Amino acid sequence: MRELEERIIKDGSINPGNVLKVDSFLNHQIDIRFLETLGEEFKRRFDGKNITKILTIEASGIGVASITSKYFDYPPVVFAKKSKTSNISNDVYKSSVHSYTHNETNHIIVSKQYLHKDDYVLIIDDFLANGCAVLGLIDLIKQAGAHVAGIGIVIEKGYQEGGQLIREQGYHLESLAIIKSMDGDTGNIQFVNNDE
Ligand code: 5GP
Repeated sequence: MRELEERIIKDGSINPGNVLKVDSFLNHQIDIRFLETLGEEFKRRFDGKNITKILTIEASGIGVASITSKYFDYPPVVFAKKSKTSNISNDVYKSSVHSYTHNETNHIIVSKQYLHKDDYVLIIDDFLANGCAVLGLIDLIKQAGAHVAGIGIVIEKGYQEGGQLIREQGYHLESLAIIKSMDGDTGNIQFVNNDE
């Protein structure tokens, strides 16, 4: 998506550890009007799918998932909560996710009240890197016996393994921008052209 690539080039910066910072519109300050254009684009890419729920992971997925809901006729947005302890009640589905940015493992939980076997779930997240977060969310959906209707990502780091791993498993994955390479020294960011 051309506007997103331009916005990343204009406002993004590359931090040590190969972390792209997009705090001015997505991860700290949120540009609502811009996120509406991302939500509309997700709707275009997953059009015709009957989505009953949107699932994301706290904290940075919540903004874009919430705005995206509007374009799918307002399905509820459920966010998986992170928990440091593995001693968790039986009323929840749980999985574990290694955090790329914080280099730590979190347990993620969703209450059994909010995911059901008749749900068609669209996963939305801000970034896809090694795929741990998305695979954890897929695991929660499977535990509920629900269906993965699709996976929508704002920024995929195409040179990390997550995208390939998830596409190989047959899921419908759409990333609005796919980074081919980024260079922390020069600040240069190259994209895979995936506009349809
Ligand atoms: P994965 O689980 O696919 O390795 O990483 C995805 C998660 O890590 C996302 O939920 C996102 O919050 C975080 N993440 C991974 N890479 C980046 C990055 O380059 N920049 C930012 N801001 N977050 C990232």
